[in-house]
Amino acid sequence: MSEINAMDVISIIREQIENFDWDEESREIGKVISVGDGIATVYGIDHAMYGEIVVFENGEKGMVMDIRRTEIGVMLFGRDVGISEGMKVTRTRKNAGIPVGEGFIGRVVNALGEPIDGKGDIASAGYNPIERPAPGIIDRKSVDTPLETGILAIDSMFPIGRGQRELIIGDRQTGKTSIATDTILNQKGKNVTCIYVAIGQKATTVEKVRNILEKGGAMDYTIIVSATAADPASLQYIAPYAGTALGEYFMDKGGDVLIIYDDLSKHAVAYREISLLLERSPGREAYPGDVFYLHSRLLERSSKLSDEKGGGSMTALPIIETQNGDVSAYISTNVISITDGQIFLESSLFFSGMRPAVNVGLSVSRVGGAAQTKAMKKASGSIRVDLAQYRELEIFTQFASDLDAATQAELSHGGALMQLLKQPLSHPMSMADQVITLELANLRYFDSFDKKDVKKEQGKILDYIRLEHPDIVSSIESTRDVADDVKDLIAAAGEEYKKSKEQN
Ligand code: ATP
Ligand code: MG
Repeated sequence: MSEINAMDVISIIREQIENFDWDEESREIGKVISVGDGIATVYGIDHAMYGEIVVFENGEKGMVMDIRRTEIGVMLFGRDVGISEGMKVTRTRKNAGIPVGEGFIGRVVNALGEPIDGKGDIASAGYNPIERPAPGIIDRKSVDTPLETGILAIDSMFPIGRGQRELIIGDRQTGKTSIATDTILNQKGKNVTCIYVAIGQKATTVEKVRNILEKGGAMDYTIIVSATAADPASLQYIAPYAGTALGEYFMDKGGDVLIIYDDLSKHAVAYREISLLLERSPGREAYPGDVFYLHSRLLERSSKLSDEKGGGSMTALPIIETQNGDVSAYISTNVISITDGQIFLESSLFFSGMRPAVNVGLSVSRVGGAAQTKAMKKASGSIRVDLAQYRELEIFTQFASDLDAATQAELSHGGALMQLLKQPLSHPMSMADQVITLELANLRYFDSFDKKDVKKEQGKILDYIRLEHPDIVSSIESTRDVADDVKDLIAAAGEEYKKSKEQN
């Protein structure tokens, strides 16, 4: 009797040894100790890596954000209501990633790459980690091709090159998003894949952007990654990295990418929320100590790759919202120091009708000049100086009654330039139109008009030249330069048009 029992025990043990699930053991299973506010503390997973995805028993996923001596802090991607104390948690050994591919073009996805536009599944071509080291110095090249925004005030004075990071900064409602959408609209037919990442925006604002792009035919080459204010902080935190991972897919294949982060102020706030919940110590403005790294590791991934690496590029236009024009706040100064320049938008200009409200004195582009076309370089040569002189004179002569002729000429020239820099929404200007406008301005063509007529006259003369002198336009487009004889042709066309107007 006792012999049989011993045999039984042995066979049970043998069976258990044979069926031992090495895999399950090596996956390491932990247990939830506590959960709340989108953060779960898990005990028993000793070897999880930072950034690794873990799966909860109910299928919910999370990302390891904090590794402590005996437990880990997990940021949840979904809702925390289904997760309870004691629930099993399994390692996946995979870092957070996002599906990528051409199929994403024209679609709206969340920060995990899942479609949210109701247009069905997306066929992916691969899977990219959301965090990836930025290209090294050897793998890079300096910018040499312009990324045209189609906005005269930017392309003429603060040119952006493909692979550059240019910050758009300003108070709320100063036209920041509009600059981004106009730039996307202007990429039509220019072989640039655009990615608009919305972080912490209202869902209606994102829908508005999608509408504008759809109407302008720009969704044919654009992806929208959206983590709205209603989404958990975790999704808002990973959205820009996910968008970048999507962009890297196209950049790695030698393509040109434009990525907009709208906006990084809200991104920093989402990260602050997560950090505080993870009980990390708060620093300046209650942001955690690594908030600089949060944005530097993101923006460093935008670059122009060397020819050996395929020559692709990713141009970044991060957006930062300031309070009362204060650019010296913590997050703004961080991002200013990471980027290659900034377009500073000012409320007072915006409300005085100067739209886009670019502050010429405080904006700068540190590298884009190298990529500017010869035509634009020649045509825009003196515009910044002329505008600076105008601003000084304007203040100086505010209360003066009789001015000498030279001063008056300066004032009317500056006034005309200011008018020319106004540009309505969704009306990007081609490079040739911009160059012709600037050449005519340099010839003082617009100075004699009433200020309120300048924009109208600009439209008329551009139409006239396009119709009567298409050779001027085609010469600028093909050579990307304005030869001296073309300059003369522009001057002659201007005179001709003025004369024909007088006759009528
Ligand atoms: P928020 O801080 O809310 O994100 P924002 O700075 O992104 O605002 P936008 O949403 O781009 O600003 O623009 C604010 C308003 O100004 C919009 O109604 C837009 O239509 C208008 N606007 C922006 N640029 C121009 C322009 N060049 N001409 C006319 N209207 C403009
Ligand atoms: Mg906006």
